[in-house]
Amino acid sequence: MVFTGKIDQFYDYRFGQLAYRTVRFEQETLDTPNYQGNAVINYTEREVPYTRIIEHKHFESFGAAVYDNPHTVISREYSTEWTPGMEPFYPVNDEKNATIYKQYKELADSENDVLFGGRLAEYAYYDMAPVIAKVLQLTIG
Ligand SMILES: Cc1cc2nc3c(=O)[nH]c(=O)nc-3n(C[C@H](O)[C@H](O)[C@H](O)COP(=O)(O)OP(=O)(O)OC[C@H]3O[C@@H](n4cnc5c(N)ncnc54)[C@H](O)[C@@H]3O)c2cc1C
Repeated sequence: MVFTGKIDQFYDYRFGQLAYRTVRFEQETLDTPNYQGNAVINYTEREVPYTRIIEHKHFESFGAAVYDNPHTVISREYSTEWTPGMEPFYPVNDEKNATIYKQYKELADSENDVLFGGRLAEYAYYDMAPVIAKVLQLTIG
């Protein structure tokens, strides 16, 4: 079995719950063909409550085609503390959670028929390319 869920959940939280960060998305449709000129702008200022704005159309419309549609949809992303029931997005890489994860990892390493893979099962931040590379390097057996 390949398990891609939360490793603490797999073991019924016997060593405690791991902490996560999540993201709240606030979506808006605007009456303008082009809001920010590209797909992603990051905001790192302390005063700005969101961390980035995604303007979705720029992922698939380019050049003059952007102006074919007079509207645009943007999403503001607010970094949010995770509580149970929310979607877990990012691990919290501090000492407390590293210690809890280590205990689950020891159990996981002793499993014969279960492979733990991905950001939730390995309690690690992965972008798409590294997680795919990891799968391609997986040895089964
Ligand atoms: C807000 C956000 C923005 C991102 N932006 C980018 C980006 O711009 N570029 C980039 O490269 N990467 C980005 N990433 C990272 C990218 O999403 C991850 O690298 C990728 O999804 C990791 O793949 P994964 O298989 O590890 O986990 P996931 O894609 O999360 O897959 C885990 C799967 O396990 C399933 N699952 C969970 N629990 C259980 C269970 N108990 N039983 C069975 N199934 C279960 C889930 O439903 C899910 O389908 C972003 C991530 C987030 C959260």
